[in-house]
Amino acid sequence: MTSNDTWHQTACILCSINCGVEVKLDGPTIARVRGDKANPASEGYTCEKALRLDHYQNGAHRLTTPLRRRDDGTFEPIDWDTAIAEIAQRFGEVIDEHGGESILFYGGGGQGNHLGGGYGGATRSALGIRYTSNALAQEKTGEFWVDGQLFGRSRCHTAGDYEHAEVAVFWGKNPWQSHGFPQARRVLKEIANDPDRTLIVVDPRRSESADLADIHVRPAPGGDAHLLAALLAVLVRDGLIADRWLDEHARGLDELLAHIATVDIAESCAKAGVELAIVEQVAHRIGTATRGVSIFEDLGIQQAPHSTLNSYLEKLVVLLTGNFGVPGGMNLHSRFASLGGGGGGGGDRRGGEPMTPTGGHRLVTGLVPCNVIPDEILTDHPKRFRALLVESGNPVHSLADSQRMREALRALDLVVVIDVAMTETAREADYVLPAASQFEKWECTFFNLEFPRNCFQLRRPVFAPREGTLPEAEIHARLCRALGAYNDDDLAPLRTAAAAGRAAFRDAFLAFGGQRPDLSKLVAIVLYETLGPTLRTSDGVDAAGAAAVWGLSQICAMTEGPSVRRAGIGDGHDDADLGDALFDAIIANPSGVVFTLDDYDETWRRMATPDQRVQLAIPLLLDEFDRLATEPAPAGSDAEFPLVLSAGERRSSTANTIFRDPAWRKKDASGALRISPADAAACGLVDGDRARVTTRRGSAVAVVELSDMMRVGHISLPNGFGLGVDGTSDGPGVAPNELTSSDDRDWYAGTPHHKHVRARVEAVS
Ligand code: SF4
Repeated sequence: MTSNDTWHQTACILCSINCGVEVKLDGPTIARVRGDKANPASEGYTCEKALRLDHYQNGAHRLTTPLRRRDDGTFEPIDWDTAIAEIAQRFGEVIDEHGGESILFYGGGGQGNHLGGGYGGATRSALGIRYTSNALAQEKTGEFWVDGQLFGRSRCHTAGDYEHAEVAVFWGKNPWQSHGFPQARRVLKEIANDPDRTLIVVDPRRSESADLADIHVRPAPGGDAHLLAALLAVLVRDGLIADRWLDEHARGLDELLAHIATVDIAESCAKAGVELAIVEQVAHRIGTATRGVSIFEDLGIQQAPHSTLNSYLEKLVVLLTGNFGVPGGMNLHSRFASLGGGGGGGGDRRGGEPMTPTGGHRLVTGLVPCNVIPDEILTDHPKRFRALLVESGNPVHSLADSQRMREALRALDLVVVIDVAMTETAREADYVLPAASQFEKWECTFFNLEFPRNCFQLRRPVFAPREGTLPEAEIHARLCRALGAYNDDDLAPLRTAAAAGRAAFRDAFLAFGGQRPDLSKLVAIVLYETLGPTLRTSDGVDAAGAAAVWGLSQICAMTEGPSVRRAGIGDGHDDADLGDALFDAIIANPSGVVFTLDDYDETWRRMATPDQRVQLAIPLLLDEFDRLATEPAPAGSDAEFPLVLSAGERRSSTANTIFRDPAWRKKDASGALRISPADAAACGLVDGDRARVTTRRGSAVAVVELSDMMRVGHISLPNGFGLGVDGTSDGPGVAPNELTSSDDRDWYAGTPHHKHVRARVEAVS
């Protein structure tokens, strides 16, 4: 497994795209990295960040023993048996006194490590956890909820076909740096270089993607809802909507058009800070395209004012022009596994909607909105959260208002963190359990969001787990046993069946669900304990850690059967064997497989509305849409904080926060505050000066970079700074969430306004 002369297939784990890479090792070091041409999604493509993966694998942040907090706040190393026994006992005490619903689960994986979270479902069930949250609940839940309203279920998520679209629109999105779809830079350049195709970027910043664009629309920060309202109104006014398509595939059109008819286009453009002429140009380019329009909306509008409304209006642009369920347009993609909430039964139900236990905040798509987590702890309500289990997540650093999140964690009876690193959250924990790295175990991502061709890669371990660490599958198995969730006698029938072969195991496993419904809730760990020991690759590598993928393959074969077969999997197998055929294909192809190949009818088959039509009118959001007319212009409306800070910009010098060692950066070492030359001059600043950024929540000092990327009135700080290798915030740069506030959030989904934080800037002598 660790031969230095061998190229090992794995993936980059620094963004959700997980480009396939091959690595060569030098002892415990990742010595060389190159794109993996055999990876069916990335086909050899990478950006420059993948070359630096050893900063994650061998950074000083790695933990190598379980830790227990002492009374004085320092940590002491303890052995695994002690840690597991004490954690089980402490959780048991919380459950006895307050019930499993008083325990919040946060995380379950970052951008490349979702398999551990799959096994974590067993521990959540064993603890009786009902409430879960993760980073999606500060990014995407508003969009998912809108998908649910339009298409019938929130898992009906749209994928753009940027590779083939005649018009590709990136709204609040800079794919050059934040990627978001396979081979993003290559695709952007291809569109930009094709005179018959059009690249449109909507972003207040003149980003790298905007520099390539045919049309760059530059709204005032926070003006997107007004811009979208104007765009929809122009599409209708100028007869650019797809009447016949809407007649066949949608309902609620008349109700929607009645609201759009009230839009004052000129006034909406003025509030958005854009010229009417450019809105008309965009509307006509979208409305006259014949080979598909795909739109990617991202955090620039999802973490800004009117977050959920923005998602709705953006999708209406696609739908009103008939660019849904067609080549080059938006389609509903397949899934290998769900990314959704996963709390055991959701929260309290009020008025039919699941809610948080104390504040009555909606669980949007099953998740507790990240921004209300402190509210659900820092209260004397008897149903407040009392304990927290965190796995591969860092809420103290990554969620709004780090100061208040620390305060909330300190108010809990018990905090347990499973992670590879001493993070800012781990530093607040009572127990920290060190996980093996993503290159030391079987691993995968469930960010498989493409259409018509969707890929999945099950990554083999490249190294053995570092001494003192364990893969999450083993951690959760030990926790479940210590919690008394099962014992060897419970598993004996399945172990016997597994020894008899895969077919016998499948029959026994299906029967087991009916015989032992209590254990079927622990399904991933049951598979790890029973089928796992029998799994090997063709070259003899122990594949116990892949057992959960066998279960997911069965589900995928049942739900996506025709598309799995279209991908060339399962020839000669009947439907009962399709799941095993899929699993065998996955495990035999370490560079990944195309697991589904869709035709365009598949989008309509995935629709979950009763009549398979799009439900265009969402009354709650149409009410908010109407209120735009009386809302003041977002720009320049706060004299005390006249600037808008985009907190957490993705740059070439930033990745996700699993890179904790600042040495990985080649430039922008201090995470500069970007500011327009005009704003800098007004503040008396020049390049390289130090400036204090102050928001309602806090202040921090940053080095200034004058940048004509920034629109006047708009400043930005990068993500991924302010990280210390030992979980303190003493690394270079500003930790953005020291400046954000948890109550600055979308009224419906609770998503934060990180890209629209009111701020002022002053020179520091
Ligand atoms: S950072 Fe993202 S786009 Fe770049 S190599 Fe890694 S996975 Fe690919």
